[in-house]
Amino acid sequence: MTRISIILLLLFTTGAWALPRHEPVPGGIAVIPVDARHVNDLTYEGRPVMVVKEDDAWYAVVGIALSKTPGRYSIEHSSGKRFTFTVHPKEYKVQRLTIENERQVTPYKEDLKRIKRERREMNAAFSHFETTVSATTDFTLPVDGPISSPFGLKRFLNNQPRSPHSGLDIAADTGEPIRAPARGRIAATGNYFFNGNTVIVDHGQGLITMYCHMSRIDVQPGDSVEAGDLLGYVGQTGRVTGPHLHWSVSLNNARVDPNLFLQAAE
Ligand code: ZN
Repeated sequence: MTRISIILLLLFTTGAWALPRHEPVPGGIAVIPVDARHVNDLTYEGRPVMVVKEDDAWYAVVGIALSKTPGRYSIEHSSGKRFTFTVHPKEYKVQRLTIENERQVTPYKEDLKRIKRERREMNAAFSHFETTVSATTDFTLPVDGPISSPFGLKRFLNNQPRSPHSGLDIAADTGEPIRAPARGRIAATGNYFFNGNTVIVDHGQGLITMYCHMSRIDVQPGDSVEAGDLLGYVGQTGRVTGPHLHWSVSLNNARVDPNLFLQAAE
């Protein structure tokens, strides 16, 4: 093999297994080197942990919840061996939004049962750890368009404090196609009170993505998708101020900044 073809092969291999970016902050990701003897049975707060091999080295990839207090944390192997990491503080900006439908800011009593059921459904999808596939962690943007609202903003809706922004918003017109950012399986679809028409994709090893406010859903639970496959179309269903895609990325049931999975992004 020539030197150039070896270099090309290395580039290709690296590209195919690109790790997400290490940013150990609330809403970020910790990429932790682990030795080959400890790649199985790793847990973080009782949940199984994604492990990725890159250039003959192994890394645990841990999602850090937005609510996590900065400090020292660890993942644990079944043998008792621990790998520690530090979560650093990060200040997210404040966003104030006006929602015209007051019921979507302070739901009626009869809405609460529906909201609770939907939260359970979504949580079940986010909590799943699929071991039969190795996750693909380098994503492409699911919709062509500018980021209109970044991940993590502290939100006030009609001047009332609400949960922080757990995904990122991509501005696009109703009817623009939404494409899978990587290989996966459709875990759930539904019409949810806040999120409107929604698709949840399981990429394996606890890496799950969610697409909200869609005008139309073109997949069904159980479908397999490849990167670039159509999931449906941008819309403005659920709680929105206009058409856009709300895109969430979840790792070990922690919603994290989708940008960390976009290799071309800053
Ligand atoms: Zn959003």
